Amino acid sequence: MKLITFTHKNEELVGVLVGESVIPLRQFASMEELIRAGVPADLGAERIPFTEVQLLAPIPRPAHDIICLGMNFADHTKEAARFHPTLIRENQAVYFGKRVDLAVPHGGAIDSHPDVTQQLDYEAEIAVIIGRDARHVKREAVKDYIFGYTIINDVSAREVQTGHKQYFFGKSLDTFTPMGPCIVTADEFAYPPEIGIRCFVNGEKRQDGNTRQWIFDIEDVITELSAGMTLHSGTIISMGTPAGVGMGMTPPVFLQSGDTVKCEADGIGTLTNPVI
Ligand code: MG
Repeated sequence: MKLITFTHKNEELVGVLVGESVIPLRQFASMEELIRAGVPADLGAERIPFTEVQLLAPIPRPAHDIICLGMNFADHTKEAARFHPTLIRENQAVYFGKRVDLAVPHGGAIDSHPDVTQQLDYEAEIAVIIGRDARHVKREAVKDYIFGYTIINDVSAREVQTGHKQYFFGKSLDTFTPMGPCIVTADEFAYPPEIGIRCFVNGEKRQDGNTRQWIFDIEDVITELSAGMTLHSGTIISMGTPAGVGMGMTPPVFLQSGDTVKCEADGIGTLTNPVI
């Protein structure tokens, strides 16, 4: 099931995307409420043509910072090491937080922040959405805690990311979290999921990976984190990016105002954003 957040007649709603129609679920004030309650069996009879809605990011204002993995694809780890050796860790997952002011929907603009960065970069990623509060989750139970998946472009200001000891600021500038176009519920994928994820800049393919290449998979991450911290329903975990980002090119090539970045994932859709 494809779930979206959208506006219709100036009202923010969540709903189910079915073909060219949207079924609004007006009983939920937000996607996070819908996630907590679960998708109802009876979706109701109302239909809105998709052409009449404006998409928002599926979780426009996450309650918590997004939990991100760095260096979760071996080939991306190599390119990152070339760009900046201190980015590398061995044998342990790299976790960092990404603050989101307002997640950017499909079609929304990425601000290039020229006063802050000259090294604007993209990272196409699959994000896991937690369905119910997770604490001390055993490996065999992990899949019961996954509500669904979406696409995140983990936009990054590289010299800000590497210049400070923590990634936090360089990952958290306003508009640095394009998300969407929808959340696809976990039942639509095999488990563990094998989802192809690609990124194109101005139509040129830059990244082409698959979630089967994750170094640390969903079970590793959720068992490790939930052993020590509660992952509330609605938590977003962005699982890292494959090789092919701008800092990995020789010489590095960064995003410029006027570029268009398209992230696409099998079974989820495309997330396209202009850089302004
Ligand atoms: Mg990332």
